[in-house]
Amino acid sequence: MDKISLIVPCYNEAEAIPILYTELINVTSKMSTVNFEFIFIDDGSSDRTLPICKELATKDEKVKYISFSRNFGKEAAMYAGLTNAIGDYVAILDADMQDPPSLLPKLYYAVKYEGYDSAATRRVSRKGEPKIRSFCARLFYKLMRKISDAEIVDGARDFRLMNRKFVNALLSMKEYNRFSKGMFGWVGFKTKWIEFENIQRCAGETKWSFWGLLKYSIEGIIAFSNVPLIIASLTGLLFCIMAFFFIIFIIVRQLLYHNSVNGWSSLVCIILLIGGIQLFSIGVLGHYMSQLYIEVKRRPNFIISEDNIKK
Ligand code: UDP
Ligand code: MG
Repeated sequence: MDKISLIVPCYNEAEAIPILYTELINVTSKMSTVNFEFIFIDDGSSDRTLPICKELATKDEKVKYISFSRNFGKEAAMYAGLTNAIGDYVAILDADMQDPPSLLPKLYYAVKYEGYDSAATRRVSRKGEPKIRSFCARLFYKLMRKISDAEIVDGARDFRLMNRKFVNALLSMKEYNRFSKGMFGWVGFKTKWIEFENIQRCAGETKWSFWGLLKYSIEGIIAFSNVPLIIASLTGLLFCIMAFFFIIFIIVRQLLYHNSVNGWSSLVCIILLIGGIQLFSIGVLGHYMSQLYIEVKRRPNFIISEDNIKK
């Protein structure tokens, strides 16, 4: 009998977990040909998330939990789940019911019988989301598709079901800065996309602030594209060429008219502009360097404080 591991990253989801669990039992009980394990990852929550997971684990042996020593972020939680999942198939879904568990049979069918290695979901609408967030997200996906070599789908959720081959490929990527949306595309294989309408979170509130999302998207760009570096060097080159012609112009003017005082204001403007571009380029470079620094340190992605996983 096939086994499916369901990974649920949870950060302060005490209100949502019982609702999700009931729904999971409801959906999985109809899939009688499959064994399940539910892996709840408590990502350093400060509410009752961990006690609730423990309670579920004592009642239901399918329930596994891993609790982090602090908040390490959703990417780390998903990675912890992937490394500990033992299923032939692994699915990831959010705790807040925004990834409807009712789609699981469809995802499983696609991977098991239709020859896909993973079945992923994407939202076709962003109903109920703040307009500015939708706008920025769309802009990010557009930009990302242009400048990165990984295929990143607009509206793609992390909600997907994968076979072992796919999971092992993800696990073979040992990078510290994990940008799953890029990694899912980067590993290749055949993915079926299943669409659904956006669903509001069932309880609690979103864990993402505007700055959190901005930081996450910049890390995503840095991890999957070096186009920012190319832009920085091309801008540098462009300004060198402009400067070269400008110098010739000034020399000729000095030789012909002997006045070099005129034009100081335009010079100041140019110095400011070039200075700005230089600082920006150094900033871009610095970002890549800082990511490199983090990778080189080889720190663990997460630290477990307790779990009930039998090794
Ligand atoms: N999450 C997590 N660690 C974090 C932030 C979020 O494990 O640091 C989990 C959260 O509990 C939820 C999922 O990631 O299950 C998605 O988070 P959220 O619903 O806040 O994001 P949104 O749906 O608003 O994009
Ligand atoms: Mg959510």
